[in-house]
Amino acid sequence: MGDAPLRVAIVGSGPAGFYTAEHLLRQERPFTVDLFDRLPTPFGLVRGGVAPDHPKIKSVTRVYDRVAANPAFRFFGNVTAGRDLSAEDLARHYHAVVWAVGAEADRRLDIPGEDLGGSHTATEFVAWYNGHPDFRDRRFDLSREVAAVVGVGNVAMDVTRILASDPEELARTDITGYALAALRESRVRTIYLLGRRGPAQAAFTNPELKELGELALADVVVRPADLVIDPATRATLDATPDREAEKNLKTLQGFVERGLLGRPRRIELRFCTSPLRLEGDVRVERMVLGANRLEAGARGVQAVSTGEEESVPVDLVFRSVGYRALALTGVPFDPARAVIPNDRGRVLSAPGGGVVPGSYVAGWIKRGPSGVIGTNKPDAAETAERLLEDAAEGRLPAPAQPTADAVPELLRARGVDAVGWPDWQALDAHEVASGTARGAPREKVTDTGEMLAIIRGARQRR
Ligand code: NAP
Repeated sequence: MGDAPLRVAIVGSGPAGFYTAEHLLRQERPFTVDLFDRLPTPFGLVRGGVAPDHPKIKSVTRVYDRVAANPAFRFFGNVTAGRDLSAEDLARHYHAVVWAVGAEADRRLDIPGEDLGGSHTATEFVAWYNGHPDFRDRRFDLSREVAAVVGVGNVAMDVTRILASDPEELARTDITGYALAALRESRVRTIYLLGRRGPAQAAFTNPELKELGELALADVVVRPADLVIDPATRATLDATPDREAEKNLKTLQGFVERGLLGRPRRIELRFCTSPLRLEGDVRVERMVLGANRLEAGARGVQAVSTGEEESVPVDLVFRSVGYRALALTGVPFDPARAVIPNDRGRVLSAPGGGVVPGSYVAGWIKRGPSGVIGTNKPDAAETAERLLEDAAEGRLPAPAQPTADAVPELLRARGVDAVGWPDWQALDAHEVASGTARGAPREKVTDTGEMLAIIRGARQRR
């Protein structure tokens, strides 16, 4: 193979995809990277997941912009791997393919009534307020007063915060115009935030917990009894000190001491509480909650039902119990863990099976839906290093059609209008300009057809 560039396709333009590209393009050995995304826009969850009121987290895209500026990098937005290009197509055109498609679906609660009207996944709501094209037409009835968010991870915190925020503050963020309009009309006043285990086991991080207390329109209610540490938790904290948990307990204690400040909305945190069923005719009207106690178990401190039940009127439910990856056509999948089976980033034919030559995986589809954006940097580096080892050892299969033009030609022949980086830059400039009217960093275009129309208009002017 000599020093001819090795051609790598990365599928998914979120943080895992970009960090993998960055690592490969930094090497002495020449690589070319084609980054594919099914949307015309890049950045995955940085655009479609990170909360609009967290602009600092989004500023990571500047790093990705620098990666995209490398002449050995090409973006192919609006291209769905598995439909517009099959796994076999990719193998025919590239020395290596890196799957970095994230986790698109959700875990389920598996309780009766989960699919009643008014019960949604938190991730649908997140994708809606962030303007993901597949979710822009969802409707959330915010004319009701009581909402419940199930789960106490950072997604639950984002959803709770957006529901409880002052819309005038959100107006200065890149939240989509339609979501802002709906939130301005919102009559949601009480938001239950339900953790099945105790506060020391909560998955949220301390800055996100503190933010709840900084909301101008919301009181935070914590039951003092929830902060009494049980023996199992005490033993665990003594054996393995957990600074984040200690900080969270202190913050929660602060909420108890602060008491009610007479703010119009109320966030009620309840720990050791599991929803047992949702009840109502066609929509959710009540949630039956079960009390739990904590016990040491094989997988750490576990929630065990006490048998006590309580019925609480609830109009809207957001299930925020984690994402779940979906299988890709032509790529191995481990349904038990909902990941592509892999050994440190090398795709395996099955869990514990043989290596699939030239096939790699990075991000949530590799390790499961955990960690923050920065977690993807070492994760991607680990994958890229395996690819580099295989390249050095001559283990990458030679593609049948290795020319740079072959893929764009194939896409054109299939009638796919692939979006390049300059196209995205034109759309980006359009969004930024549209945001200025309301003092926002951007007003996102949320309809794929409209995105492509803006892009085609900009191409004609170039
Ligand atoms: P997560 O952190 O895994 O939290 C999931 C929550 O759901 C946990 O509290 C979990 O409780 C609970 N849960 C799971 N199954 C349940 C069930 N059957 N009944 C009741 N509760 C259940 O997931 P996430 O909130 O979706 O976040 C995904 C990742 O993105 C995380 O790593 C998160 O930190 C990250 N993220 C970060 C930010 C940020 O940095 N600001 C924002 C959003 C997301 P148990 O612990 O008891 O299982």
